[in-house]
Amino acid sequence: MRGRPDGYTGNGTRPTRDATGTPGRVIPRPVNEYRRALRKCPDVTGSNLTVGLLMAEYADYFTGMDCFPAQKTLAGELGFTTSRQVRTCLRWLEAVGWLHDTGTTVESDGPHRGSKIYWLTVPDCPHRHDGSALPVVRD
Ligand SMILES: [Zn+2]
Repeated sequence: MRGRPDGYTGNGTRPTRDATGTPGRVIPRPVNEYRRALRKCPDVTGSNLTVGLLMAEYADYFTGMDCFPAQKTLAGELGFTTSRQVRTCLRWLEAVGWLHDTGTTVESDGPHRGSKIYWLTVPDCPHRHDGSALPVVRD
């Protein structure tokens, strides 16, 4: 199947592109830009949105890299009784393209040892993330 010219495959696995339009390169986004896009994506709601926004708090503000909070920490801050719900949300965000698993984990000793290191990424949704794609809410 050839797919759309912009590379979107409709299943969340579309290539992330760099500024030159080259597919396949993962580009981390600054925290501010990430939070704004995440909030305005109509596909991201509920716990997925909450976990995504909280992940942003743990990333490097300027690069969107070095994000490695312990799942237990996230669960505690969110009032979840177990880390399972956090893991489910992280997997979803990763599958859809809102998080990139760098494939590395924290090696230094301490509470973060073994935590996955993520980057904040913004997927190429077919809609825009300027708020125009938000669903219309009626009273
Ligand atoms: Zn979106």
